Amino acid sequence: MQATISHKPASERAWFTSLVIAAICFAGFLLPDWFLTFLKPEYHIRLEYDFFAWLAGTAVALAFIPKRSVFVAVIGFFFILQSAQLLHIEFFESPLSPYSIAWGFAEYEDFAEGFLSAWKELIPVWLLTLAPYLVMGFFFFRLDHKRRQSWLAYLPLLILLAVFPYRTVKGDTGINNMMPMSGRLSLYNGVRSASGYLFAILPRQFSGTDLPQNDYALYDIREIQTEPELTVVLIMGESLSVRHMSLFDYERQTTPELEALQKTSRYFAARPAIAGGVVTLVSIPLFMNVLREPGFHQMLSNPQANLFRLAKKNGFKTYIVSAQANSALNGVGASWVDKTQTKEDHTKELEEKGEILLLDKIKAIPAGGRRFIMVHQRNIHTPYENAYRNDPDKTRYEQFLTPAGASQDEAKINGYDNAMRYAEMVQAEIIRAFKSDAGTAPTYVFLVADHGELLGERGKWGHGHLLPETADTPFIFDGSNVDEAFFEKIKALIHPTNYEVAKLIAEKLGFEIENPNEDGRTFFINGNEIYGNAGKLKVTRHEDGAVTYEEVK
Ligand SMILES: [Zn+2]
Repeated sequence: MQATISHKPASERAWFTSLVIAAICFAGFLLPDWFLTFLKPEYHIRLEYDFFAWLAGTAVALAFIPKRSVFVAVIGFFFILQSAQLLHIEFFESPLSPYSIAWGFAEYEDFAEGFLSAWKELIPVWLLTLAPYLVMGFFFFRLDHKRRQSWLAYLPLLILLAVFPYRTVKGDTGINNMMPMSGRLSLYNGVRSASGYLFAILPRQFSGTDLPQNDYALYDIREIQTEPELTVVLIMGESLSVRHMSLFDYERQTTPELEALQKTSRYFAARPAIAGGVVTLVSIPLFMNVLREPGFHQMLSNPQANLFRLAKKNGFKTYIVSAQANSALNGVGASWVDKTQTKEDHTKELEEKGEILLLDKIKAIPAGGRRFIMVHQRNIHTPYENAYRNDPDKTRYEQFLTPAGASQDEAKINGYDNAMRYAEMVQAEIIRAFKSDAGTAPTYVFLVADHGELLGERGKWGHGHLLPETADTPFIFDGSNVDEAFFEKIKALIHPTNYEVAKLIAEKLGFEIENPNEDGRTFFINGNEIYGNAGKLKVTRHEDGAVTYEEVK
């Protein structure tokens, strides 16, 4: 080290050598995913720039650290994480989650048996992951004596490696933040899943909390007839409380546009419904994977009923048009989506125009053939006023003004009701747009919400509380050229759960899902965690449509 400081040109060369090693490592971390896109044409990757920055920083720090053993340990660990992810994707078509790791250890015999039965098919993926790591190691050792080394490099390395564990342990929904996302870099998912396992699940297991076990039977999924050409639309609402919609007898007129559709549309239906969870990151994956049972980890690791997956199987073009961030797509099966647009793709437009922007994005989707489109709203979200602040038509919000001196609670309710007015206007516009461009092809629009919202019920506000009211959401159906027999089924629904609505969507995608664990009357509302570790409510629907709730472990 002394020698390099006294000879400046040599020192510069040493810096350069280290940066070359960093560049090789950075490229090496990305290569396995790139290779896999050739092996599996359906595997596409969405690039996440903050993770790129994390990866580049880590590569640079690694290239400068003095100890070779630390370099080997870190990239060896990365190799394990990345190959585990890619093998899981190859085998199950979905990324490896923190819970899959835990169950992999707990049921290692079954796990090993599964993997061993398929090892021949998995070898190419494993070799393609290994190759870049061998190249990284080769260059590192080859250039080791020429590179610049500094103890200072340990500091950024430590900080970067601590980012994910830190995000896991802070906050009570830490593990939801560490769920892998399909369509993301395998190392990104690898680091997240490992952090979730090591820093959330393992400590719990050490303190005596067991992994939830189950003896559920896998679903039976059969192909059935659907129309040769059709559009299936899922509008996923955010925090919609059925108790604040005049469509469902709320005394304030918050949903005039949906009611106008109800009056004129041949195929309109609206029912109070029950969401499967009380937070976005739990209820949306449950919905998209058509899951009834809490903690059914087998169906989450290998989401056979995933709606996008089913749609792709049947030749649908698949789309997500979302006003939410990328991260809200955790567990929805984005790798089976042909085109995904989230907030990150239109941040500025969304800021300027508000959520009605989604209408423009939808109109740009090519018509014809089979299409399955998920529209994901961000409103109604706190602060409620943000939903409608960019709406040029201010008259819509003159009804629920908050007088000076009013209580904060009153202001919140007024804000929410105004935001509902905006959200339902967007929904009605979207429904109309799909119906008008349908031509003669059938169009089926399903509107649900991820969860409801509490506005003072039992003295609580917002969502995330495991209470029946938090799951009180709307189900709305509309369409054109709808199959009459299918519409009869929709009309027969009484107080449906989101799970049952998802099954009806699967039917229009051409699949009948038969769940051997189901009795047609009991369902579940999950707490803040998708694997059922944060409590759940058992829902029983009685003959007359009345619903009772019971807290279960
Ligand atoms: Zn939500």
